[in-house]
Amino acid sequence: MQNITVLGATGSIGRSTLDVTIRHPDRYRIFALTANSNHEKLAALCKIHHPKYAVIANATHAKNLEQALKQFGLKTEVLVGEAGLIACAASPEVDTVMAAIVGAAGLAPSLAAAGAGKKILLANKEALVMAGAVFMRKVLEAGATLLPIDSEHNAIFQCLPNHMPGGLIEKGVRRILLTGSGGPFRTTASELLLNVTPEQACAHPNWVMGRKISVDSATMMNKGLEIIEAHWLFNATSSQIEVVIHPQSVIHSMVEYSDGSVLAQLGNPDMRTPIAQALAYPERIDSGVDSLDLFRTGTLTFEEPNFERFPSLRLAYEVLNAGGSTSAVFNAANEMAVAAFLDHKLAFNRITNIISETLARVPFGPVQTIDEIIEADRHSRVVAVELITAMSIQ
Ligand code: NAD
Ligand code: MG
Repeated sequence: MQNITVLGATGSIGRSTLDVTIRHPDRYRIFALTANSNHEKLAALCKIHHPKYAVIANATHAKNLEQALKQFGLKTEVLVGEAGLIACAASPEVDTVMAAIVGAAGLAPSLAAAGAGKKILLANKEALVMAGAVFMRKVLEAGATLLPIDSEHNAIFQCLPNHMPGGLIEKGVRRILLTGSGGPFRTTASELLLNVTPEQACAHPNWVMGRKISVDSATMMNKGLEIIEAHWLFNATSSQIEVVIHPQSVIHSMVEYSDGSVLAQLGNPDMRTPIAQALAYPERIDSGVDSLDLFRTGTLTFEEPNFERFPSLRLAYEVLNAGGSTSAVFNAANEMAVAAFLDHKLAFNRITNIISETLARVPFGPVQTIDEIIEADRHSRVVAVELITAMSIQ
């Protein structure tokens, strides 16, 4: 029996995780569920999953949540804020932590899970992008197990040999082929991107996801973040990671070996597959996902990424090569720009301008500690907000 904390339980990944765990009550028990502000949804989830703890961001929401839990006759205890998240991520009673908070807010509890040597199912790619070196060091030192949930990285993990020490070269790997659908604007004329609305940007052709990652997919920043994520997870250099546009999202990524073999992982675009793979690893369990119907899929196509149309990809490689605090700047500027776009304060095609301008203005250097990363994150947000205000559409 695994005791599980689901950080970000009310989100898209949180929902898919609970959909898998509830199919296997003999294997998984929910220890804690967390949410930012949606106390009604969190209370409803507590009613179904009976966690020991529920964590919510602030005291007002906590009062409402406590009231609802009382009405349901539940014994779930309410904790508040980051301290509550950390307590539930690192508790000795917990075996597995699903890290599915979106953005930098997920960093502290994800690190706490790593430091406590947990099995971490990592969806929160921003934490790894911001703090890759510190995160990976913590995982190693504490003997934590880090399993990727991002569908591409989960696919790569499945295509790599198990339990083989060393880097990619020792494993006989020539390169990683990171696939991406190209998002909703893969073929939209560049001049039309000025007037894109949040609703259009969030309408992903193949995946149903939270709003931030949906916008990231539309700008291809998501693939940019994933290049850096792949670097940390698989110890891959930038020249070992190639992006391949594959609009059908049936192949979730590939690994090419030195003998010319290319291994791919395929499946329906449903996050319950990587979630179930990581939950049960090294075993396999039912995830509720239908069989892949290759006859209906028919054709798989591949394209080279367009770096002119999607400068975020070029920026990601530059950031990876620069190292140090640059990736924290890259991530923070993107979070601010995406929030401004979703708030109708910034034009869609200005998001990457904000990121490149912030990168140009915030000095960067090597980072050793989490405090240095948090400071780079804070400084970048201040600079990004200034730039957003200057470019604002209102
Ligand atoms: P979402 O917006 O649907 O859910 C986010 C969750 O985080 C919610 O539970 C929310 O309450 C919580 N949260 C947000 N801000 C918070 C804060 N300040 N403090 C505490 N909790 C907070 O997002 P999602 O689509 O589920 O994505 C979650 C993470 O997984 C992201 O990092 C995303 O990049 C990654 N991911 C998602 C998918 C997907 O298919 N949705 C695929 C791959 C990776
Ligand atoms: Mg992905």
